[in-house]
Amino acid sequence: MKRIGVFICWCGSNIAATVDIEKAMAAARTMPGVVHVDQNKYTCSGIGQAMIRGAIKEHKLDRVVVSACSPRMHENTFRKTVEAAGLNPYYLEIANIREQCSWVHKDKEAGTDKAISLIRTAVAKASRNEALFATEMPIERRALVIGGGIAGIQAALDIADAGYEVDVVEKEPSIGGRMAQLDKTFPTLDCSACILTPKMVDVSQHEKINLITYSEIEKVEGYVGNFTVTIRNKARSVDMEKCTGCGDCTAKCPSKVESEFDVGLVKRKAIYTPFPQAVPNKPAIDRANCRWFKSGKCKVCQKVCPADAIDYEQEDRLVTARYGAIVVASGFDTHKLDKYGEYAYGKHPDVITSLEFERLLNASGPTGGKILRPSNGQTPKNVAFIQCVGSRDKAKGNPYCAKVCCMYTAKHAILLSEKIPGAKAFVFYIDVRTPGKDYEEFYNRAYEEYGATYIKGSVSKVFPDGEQLIVRSVDALSGALIELVVDMVVLATSVDARSDAKELAQKLSITTNAHNFFNEAHPKLRPVETHTAGIFLAGACQGPKDIPETVAQASAAAAKVTVLLNKKSLLSNPSVAEVNLKLCSGDMSCMVVCPYGAITEKMIEERRGRDMIKRRVADVNSALCQGCGACTVACRPGAINLKGFTNEQILAEVDAICL
Ligand code: FAD
Ligand code: SF4
Ligand code: SF4
Repeated sequence: MKRIGVFICWCGSNIAATVDIEKAMAAARTMPGVVHVDQNKYTCSGIGQAMIRGAIKEHKLDRVVVSACSPRMHENTFRKTVEAAGLNPYYLEIANIREQCSWVHKDKEAGTDKAISLIRTAVAKASRNEALFATEMPIERRALVIGGGIAGIQAALDIADAGYEVDVVEKEPSIGGRMAQLDKTFPTLDCSACILTPKMVDVSQHEKINLITYSEIEKVEGYVGNFTVTIRNKARSVDMEKCTGCGDCTAKCPSKVESEFDVGLVKRKAIYTPFPQAVPNKPAIDRANCRWFKSGKCKVCQKVCPADAIDYEQEDRLVTARYGAIVVASGFDTHKLDKYGEYAYGKHPDVITSLEFERLLNASGPTGGKILRPSNGQTPKNVAFIQCVGSRDKAKGNPYCAKVCCMYTAKHAILLSEKIPGAKAFVFYIDVRTPGKDYEEFYNRAYEEYGATYIKGSVSKVFPDGEQLIVRSVDALSGALIELVVDMVVLATSVDARSDAKELAQKLSITTNAHNFFNEAHPKLRPVETHTAGIFLAGACQGPKDIPETVAQASAAAAKVTVLLNKKSLLSNPSVAEVNLKLCSGDMSCMVVCPYGAITEKMIEERRGRDMIKRRVADVNSALCQGCGACTVACRPGAINLKGFTNEQILAEVDAICL
């Protein structure tokens, strides 16, 4: 018979307010194998842990149940506690009577009954816990960064400066991300390119950084310290070794298509470098729009290229590399406006998005930095800015706040007034949110110094009136109906997750929230980690963020990566699947369901009577197994078991909870 100790935690009043600790202790004393029960106001404190260690020695305990918060919080703490007292750390079992009990119940009697059931369940499992031993695994001392926006750039530079090799995979022909499209940046109004391009150049010149542009992640296998990643190098149709970046090909290319970088305001060529400061500053052929690829006629770029760099025969290449850690920095998309017909976007050329406005402001943009009405090329006098388009809109947009629109609209109002003296900005807002250093002051300047008029109200319609536009809204403060005549309307569109975020999450085995932003492991305490060890997050792929926040998070993710890569070795999770060869029928249902490809088949030889026969059985690669347990459910003969969560242990828990 095992000698089990049960330690019930109050968590201050978190647990004690809803669970009758004395009653739970009395019940625990009657449970099979329990020889000692105690309680503590804060079991995770030094005193609480010393109490457990002392009790293990004094009462010769060989299994320990801590009834407290979620194992996510303190399983590690208490495993170390029991280990320090000489027990195998896997002899510990946690009964989660906080998140799964006291926090979700109000009724003390019912809460106490549930806590007792949970403790009984943990005791039943603990009495069947076996010693498990972690093994040491080597670490691949190289990192992968997915996305070459400011988040990916900063993370890569920090990791590389710490002395580790980094590969940056960027799906576009150049790094830079959205920040490269911006003109000036709030709250300091420094030019975006002036602060971004030196970093882009640093990345391209850093001896430890390898830029892999025009490429995407195909497959991710493995586990923390030992990921194997297959990367698709899309055919650029340009030999990067030979190309000098002279631009002759682009100049002569006859195919034109809307420029993604200039958000459709102008055309680019089918062979193109996205923007003047692109890194690498070498073109790619967009095959979907190239005459040669579409109709078999043209080849102008090949004829004019002085370096003989055009290669129509190039094919996508799959490259496989190994990494110890991965930083995901794939950024955001701007909200699609198809559900916002009332603003006349797409119907009237003078209704544009904020990103389009950024391009109009920008000296390298389609108008050379002049704010001109797309309809007639004239300078606007009155411009309406509509905030929260697609944000804080439960009915047809995003329910969340896009965080950057209030600030960038204040920036746009200021820049309008700076570029066109006498021009007037009218900002329609629901609330103005400016949490950030110097942000409120910046917004104040927009209306105090630059004369922007802020109108609290949701715009119901934008419609043309001759050469101008009418913006109809209610002034929420006075209740008056407003019809404002303006020359241009700028829509502050919300921030969305990337359209392929879900797909990337699946490849990485990380999770997303309801809006497809990647989930952090803990919103407060582990904001840059994911639930998959060794995979970290940086920037707007996790949720709307401005540049300072993005850069801070990227450096934090890089610090986590360097801590990981600095370790001598990693300890493996011993809670992996194992096959009972006697029971295995070889039908391989487990192999089909294993999401980590950890199960393969193997042939074994065994004696049947006088004969030796060959038989197919399942074989678990314990380095790849993540302990998810999917195989154990799929295996009909019950031949595959998860160490630490065996069928016997789970069934004992079920029996105990049903008592
Ligand atoms: P991104 O800039 O989106 O970069 C992500 C990169 O990852 C891109 O290069 C993308 O091509 C690449 N990528 C995406 N998916 C993949 C994939 N699957 N594989 C490989 N690569 C991939 N913030 C400020 O602080 N000040 C401002 O003045 C300001 N103005 C703004 C104005 C507007 C109109 C908008 C929309 C935003 C503004 N912002 C501003 C916010 C700023 O743009 C973001 O904070 C910043 O761009 C976030 O950087 P990021 O690297 O996380 O994402
Ligand atoms: Fe609170 Fe958990 Fe610490 Fe107990 S162990 S005090 S429940 S945090
Ligand atoms: Fe694969 Fe089974 Fe391990 Fe899960 S427990 S990772 S399914 S082998």
